[in-house]
Amino acid sequence: MNEYGHKDSLLTLSERDQKVVWHPFTQMLNADSPIPIISGEGAYLTDDTGKQYIDAVSSWWVNLHGHSHPYIIKKMMSQLLKLEHVIFAGFTHEPAVLYAEMLLSVLPPNQARVFYSDNGSTAVEVALKMALQYWYNQGKAKTKIIALNHSYHGDTFGSMSVSARSTFTAPYNELLFQVEFIDIPVTREEQVIFEAQLDDSVAAFIFEPLIQGSGGMHMYEPETLNQMLEICRKKGILTIADEVMTGFGRTGKLFAVDHLIQKPDIICLSKGITGGTMPMGATTCTASIYDAFLSDDKGKTFFHGHSYTANPLACSAAIASLELLLKRSSQQNISIISQKHAAFAQEISGHPKVSNLRHLGTIIAFDWNTGEQTSYFHDLRNKIYHFFLEKGILLRPLGNVIYIMPPYCVSIEDLDYIYEKIQEALNTI
Ligand code: PMP
Repeated sequence: MNEYGHKDSLLTLSERDQKVVWHPFTQMLNADSPIPIISGEGAYLTDDTGKQYIDAVSSWWVNLHGHSHPYIIKKMMSQLLKLEHVIFAGFTHEPAVLYAEMLLSVLPPNQARVFYSDNGSTAVEVALKMALQYWYNQGKAKTKIIALNHSYHGDTFGSMSVSARSTFTAPYNELLFQVEFIDIPVTREEQVIFEAQLDDSVAAFIFEPLIQGSGGMHMYEPETLNQMLEICRKKGILTIADEVMTGFGRTGKLFAVDHLIQKPDIICLSKGITGGTMPMGATTCTASIYDAFLSDDKGKTFFHGHSYTANPLACSAAIASLELLLKRSSQQNISIISQKHAAFAQEISGHPKVSNLRHLGTIIAFDWNTGEQTSYFHDLRNKIYHFFLEKGILLRPLGNVIYIMPPYCVSIEDLDYIYEKIQEALNTI
């Protein structure tokens, strides 16, 4: 009998998996058999053979304080004994209200309301619908969305629509709604052109602040984004910061928009929101956006909601995670990781295989020079991925872009080990 009271199988877990499961972002025809993970503790994952891996990508950027964190578990357990879930229309509960209060107290002061959903893509969907209906409710014909080239905002249709077109979106391109994609305007002349592009039909501008993650860890300057937000404000265009990846300390500040003087109207959050324990999304907005939905006319209601909206367990994990994040020790860890990354960047900056070295807060990335045009599907990616797995490090390059985004509990020794193995990879692959 296994721990679930089911009969033991003659097949391994990987073999059983391969008969019934379809994995995300995976070509199932020739994918390696998945690694069965039995447990997680701190920055480590342990597989069924007892081998350990340092989770150097925070399990798709969600984990902040380490796996199976006892404080988060404790808070969730006590919530679980009281209430596992309740419909969130017409009802409320302490964890949802408390977390909204806590979140608003650390977000930019112009944020006034929290709308819960399930993941990063839904947080973006909610933001887009909020922005579009904000104008609709006022009888204004503003429906155009501006987004950045190289952007990635999720995998649902709305979030795909505002993401750069790529191999990932190709099968659906014709069905995605039209969005105007622009390069980040860096020079004064480019900013003038950007401003000129913003006609009266533009409803909102959506962006990943300072780091475009899945598009290849492109980084850009706060001054540039500030200018863009200022121009949008002048033109009466809503701004949506997709902080799904950058939120909760990744960039060295609590939120990437904390590096800016201008503040966005809407903020999308997920991933680290529960410390990587439970799925949850949140979209926050200003009072003036919220007010545009208040009306005797029922048609102006925000008709959006997911069955698991504000799940109490997820909210309790989010409360625990934010408490941990605000502790001095977490803030110190974030700054140690940032300093260590900066020193490592210096060390490898002259390496012939390293280009476009970039670093912000707890994220460091570089392009691995292959001497040829590379794509996400370049063979090198698999080689590098397997090299690190073999060394007990989970790194998942984006094509030829290598990046580290560890949980904040990662030790100095583990960081040094990751750096050492990256250098070894650069010198041997
Ligand atoms: N926005 C950004 C900036 C992201 O990085 C991601 C996920 N990588 C998403 C949205 C979508 O989040 P999810 O995978 O939880 O749907």
